[in-house]
Amino acid sequence: MTRVLIIAAVIILTIRFPGVHVRPSRSYLANVSAYCPCEKCCGVWALIDDDVRTTADGTPIAVALRDGCIAAPRTIAYGTRIAVPGYRGGKPIAVHDRGGAIRGDKLDLLFPTHNEALRWGRRFVRVDVYEE
Ligand SMILES: [Zn+2]
Repeated sequence: MTRVLIIAAVIILTIRFPGVHVRPSRSYLANVSAYCPCEKCCGVWALIDDDVRTTADGTPIAVALRDGCIAAPRTIAYGTRIAVPGYRGGKPIAVHDRGGAIRGDKLDLLFPTHNEALRWGRRFVRVDVYEE
């Protein structure tokens, strides 16, 4: 009976806090820049209406802004979550975007405003990758 309760508790915690009980599959020192949905950061993509605009994997921009969004190289699959110290409380945030200059050890973090992106600037931080 106790075992059943423990299993149930673990299942409930896993559902309520996805990722919390999952160990990172790897960590590395990343070269992390920041962007926002503006024309300076996104060029022609910024001209698309916010109602229909999505990230590279089709996530609505409003959802990406609400939940956080990371642009990563193609070697990191969409949906992979990465915990970046200083971004969104260091919680694992999903990769939903790509970028022409985002290669190798680079990551790009989505912020709601250009000022917030500028404030981040570029940082070299050790990140934890949580593969699905
Ligand atoms: Zn911007």
